Amino acid sequence: MNLTNISTVREILGRHGFNFSKGLGQNFIINPDICPKIAENGNARPGYGVLEIGTGIGVLTKELALRADKVAAVEIDTRLLPILAETLAEFDNVKIFNEDVMKADLNAIISQEFKGLRAAVCANLPYYITSPVLMLLLESRLPIDSITVMVQKEAAQRLCAKVGSRESGAITVGVNYYGTVTQLFGVSRGSFMPAPNVDSAVIRIDVNGSPRLNPEDEKFFFKVVKGGFSQRRKTMANSLASQLGIAKQPVYDALNALGLPEASRIEALDMEQLIGFSQELKNRI
Ligand code: SAM
Repeated sequence: MNLTNISTVREILGRHGFNFSKGLGQNFIINPDICPKIAENGNARPGYGVLEIGTGIGVLTKELALRADKVAAVEIDTRLLPILAETLAEFDNVKIFNEDVMKADLNAIISQEFKGLRAAVCANLPYYITSPVLMLLLESRLPIDSITVMVQKEAAQRLCAKVGSRESGAITVGVNYYGTVTQLFGVSRGSFMPAPNVDSAVIRIDVNGSPRLNPEDEKFFFKVVKGGFSQRRKTMANSLASQLGIAKQPVYDALNALGLPEASRIEALDMEQLIGFSQELKNRI
């Protein structure tokens, strides 16, 4: 069954009385070049189990199942289950979990389904939850080698920005703390059904083996990052004093300890400076 053939897709969806949910970010891939490329760049190969988020009608799921030993896919929309039973009927290495990815026990899914395998995540993400899903995957410290995902072009630019540049944000720091981000290729809006109003891009995050901070320091680090970026145009002394409920002096002292100006804004600090700053601040409050 060719899931990138528009007439085939219309026929299946029509027969099941399916209509697209905008709220669930349902834009399905119909460009035949895209899914094989995501799978090939995303560690879908022998020896791997791949976790997919949001199957749609299974166009990417199929390419993953052709290459990896096992695919576990989380899909929230119950209406897609009878469709997937049909489109993925030929594969016995795919298991669908009809759950909300934000609530699913992803660690349990990986350990149960991918015994003896390495693991990776591949997805054409529902755009309304791009950042929360990425942070969830990374903060949960899943035993995964990589996360290869389609996101909005603007989100890709932010994710791939240099930490310490005006284009960076809390999500840039988050993904760069846990791994290394690479932009793989752009995807035009015409590659989807229905076509969204924006272009997209596929990125890969290669996940670091071991954490850089202990759990307590890491928690504080992300409090600083989120607090600082929530008021990114203010100086760190102003934003952190209001967001963390602390005095400005320890912020000045921590900046001074690193040789940084007291009027620094968070977007000017690179990764090492951010980590150093949060450690200095934690010791002073
Ligand atoms: N992978 C398919 C493709 O590329 O054609 C579908 C991608 S579509 C952009 C996003 C998919 O994620 C939809 O099937 C949608 O129902 C599903 N989805 C949306 N929110 C979800 C959530 N919270 N948990 C799991 N799946 C979700």
